[in-house]
Amino acid sequence: MSLTQDSGRNWPRERVEQTARAICDPPAIADLLAAAANPSPDEVRDILYEAGGGRGLTAAQAATLLQVTDPSLREQVKDAARQLHERLFARRVRLLAPVCPTNRCINECLYCPLRRSNSRLRRTASSARDLQREVTALVDEGHRHLTLVFGEDRSGIHYVCDMVNAAYGVRSGTRRVHRVDLNLNSSHPEELAALAQIERLGTYHVYQETYDPETYARLHVDGPKQDYAWRLTCHDRACEAGLRDVGLGVLLGLHDPRFDVLAVLIHAQYLLERYNTAAEVITYPRLLPVPGAPVTRDTSWQVDDEAFGFLIAVTRLVAPVTEIVLSTPATPEVRRQLYALGVSQVSVGSLSYPGVYSADGDPEAAGSLRIGRPRNLETLVYRMCEVGFVPNFCVECYAQIRQKLSDDSRQAERYPVHRAAANSLLALKEYLLDYASPETQNVAAGIIQEELARLPRKVRDATLDLMEEAEAGLRGQML
Ligand code: SF4
Repeated sequence: MSLTQDSGRNWPRERVEQTARAICDPPAIADLLAAAANPSPDEVRDILYEAGGGRGLTAAQAATLLQVTDPSLREQVKDAARQLHERLFARRVRLLAPVCPTNRCINECLYCPLRRSNSRLRRTASSARDLQREVTALVDEGHRHLTLVFGEDRSGIHYVCDMVNAAYGVRSGTRRVHRVDLNLNSSHPEELAALAQIERLGTYHVYQETYDPETYARLHVDGPKQDYAWRLTCHDRACEAGLRDVGLGVLLGLHDPRFDVLAVLIHAQYLLERYNTAAEVITYPRLLPVPGAPVTRDTSWQVDDEAFGFLIAVTRLVAPVTEIVLSTPATPEVRRQLYALGVSQVSVGSLSYPGVYSADGDPEAAGSLRIGRPRNLETLVYRMCEVGFVPNFCVECYAQIRQKLSDDSRQAERYPVHRAAANSLLALKEYLLDYASPETQNVAAGIIQEELARLPRKVRDATLDLMEEAEAGLRGQML
């Protein structure tokens, strides 16, 4: 297997290396962090004051916040993030379901149980019909937003396109999927061009895992993913191919989290400047001990709950309108804290194996990862409402928000706060009417009333009119 990749005319190796250096300059990031060590309280407060304006922060300011160690100053950083997040996202949390069409992978990432040499799990790949059974089970539960998660197998981009189209093709009565995101390994330009042909494709997520080249090399010991620079430049290729929504991420726990978080924030700023399409989504999975992946037991860079919340808070202040995803398990109390600090999307359940939702998959495909069927959606909706958050099923307003933001920049002042709030309430109302038990309807009704009361009168009245129409049976109403 070749360690490096190029893609002929458009992406010769030289361009890959050059672009990678423009995205991430590890010594420069280390210098930024070193220069920002031991920030004074005044310095931090000045930055927080500026962050409150919702215009984002520079890389140097981000480095300073990441270097805060004093507990009371860290609390001030979190308070500032809570206020900004509340102003922009108003307690809304999107819900998405991860679906795994295949557990085949040719890479050897030492932190992942799906890595090629792990013989403990039986390999399998869904057909389009298998996947549609899974998706039907999910839409029948009320899900509208899926992420299809692929390792790297040899089935090729046509398989990926077929799976996305199969998911969009599901109809269960009037129910359907509204948005399908992809979590895919780095792709070649012609593959990305094929993805760009898919109507309504959601976010294209590729996580760098760690931006530190040495750690990256140590943990990716075989397969195409070994190529650090190729992976780092995949969002550039995606933007050039016409994909508008891209997602970044790092696996917290592999390397110094301050370095990796600063690097991912710099990467997002680079994409904004270059393509006017900031990373729409940043995901921070946390390394958890799992069988079949021995390095996950290494706790050298473990991120505890407090540190995780702090990193989310800094990210919210630096990138005010970026969606931040919680994708790994947390206790209900920790989840509640993270929703308040900056998390705006949550993965409902952890991925386990192909066929897990339709209950016709092969549990041996999860190997020792076997964790049973992921969490029930309604339970999460109920718990969210109970603690004052709004489960957000609206995915259509992604496009509206992007349009609004792309007119100028992704600064908070451009964010259509009230429209996003109203649309999320309308989508929640539809979910309650179509799927929820009386108990859930009851607890959610309180949240809907509270949130309606916060809207300007004109928006509130329009929302109430549309809710009446939803009660009469109309669906898909939006402001
Ligand atoms: S992290 Fe992704 S690419 Fe690496 S082994 Fe796991 S599934 Fe394959």
